[in-house]
Amino acid sequence: MAVVKADGYGHGLERVARALEGADAFGVAALSDADRLRSAGLSQPIVLLSGFDEPEDLPQLRRLGVETVVHHISQIEMLEQAGPGEPIRCWLKIDSGMHRLGFAPEFVREAYVRLTAAPAVAGGIVLMNHFASSDEFANPQTRQQLAAFAAATEGLGGARSLSNSAAVLGWPDAHADWIRPGGLLYGISVVEGRTGADFGLRPAMTLSTRLIAVNRVRKGERVGYAATWECPEDMLVGVAAIGYGDGYPRAAPSGTPVRVRGHETQLIGRVSMDLMTIDLRGIDSPAVGDPVELWGPELPVERIAEASATIGYELTCSITRRVRFVET
Ligand SMILES: *Cc1c(COP(=O)(O)O)cnc(C)c1O
Repeated sequence: MAVVKADGYGHGLERVARALEGADAFGVAALSDADRLRSAGLSQPIVLLSGFDEPEDLPQLRRLGVETVVHHISQIEMLEQAGPGEPIRCWLKIDSGMHRLGFAPEFVREAYVRLTAAPAVAGGIVLMNHFASSDEFANPQTRQQLAAFAAATEGLGGARSLSNSAAVLGWPDAHADWIRPGGLLYGISVVEGRTGADFGLRPAMTLSTRLIAVNRVRKGERVGYAATWECPEDMLVGVAAIGYGDGYPRAAPSGTPVRVRGHETQLIGRVSMDLMTIDLRGIDSPAVGDPVELWGPELPVERIAEASATIGYELTCSITRRVRFVET
């Protein structure tokens, strides 16, 4: 299952789904995303990973032919009370220890029996869980979750789905019948302190812009809002047309790496809504129009994320609508 939620992790839902046409299913978190996939003509199975939340969602699931995660008793009640119509395929989510969504192990059998008996539910319930710490390859929590899942589902028929990207990479005995990678499809690191390239992944997204000004600023002068950067010498400061209004993190401090015409340097001063300022010392004859790379194959998004106290996922998900997407 190719997980394409959150607009394909910010890469563009339809674009990503077309690129991954060979996937056996797509995973989304919102019905509106399932609607977009169907409108784009994609006919693969779609699974609503966070499940539906009101009775009015059921006709939508049927109309769109979308499968749903069932993680709470309230959803079983809605399915039991659903009117006649196409049966809906359900993925029964078990809380094996993450304590976010899912049935506690002692309620799994009852949930399974009630789903199996509900006319609105299609045959072939899939059993799934979600790992809390699979990105830490030595963390015993994953083993404990595997054991809890196995005990809770012992003897129940149906395919099993356990693994997100990190478990795909680090926990081969947790692959079961359906894997559910998201981040790794986009070449984003799914393990803290590592980049996608460490796992042989290539980032799908490059975020780039250009210099729109090159200015000489004197030693001791300060740059940008709140004057947080003081020039240690007479120097050239570049201004690039990108800011938090495009999704670049405002939290990125002076010193965060950027690339100008292929050479790594640093952003300086506060990131503003539409602009950022860049240290051009060490860049040979910088000029207006020079390309600026904020992240991409040569500059892993994880480095910008680390400087900004977040993860690569949040940065790619945060790209805003005014950014022009170019497929290469
Ligand atoms: C988002 C999500 C995934 C994918 O997670 P990654 O870490 O991006 O691989 C898998 N399963 C579920 C239920 C999810 O919500």
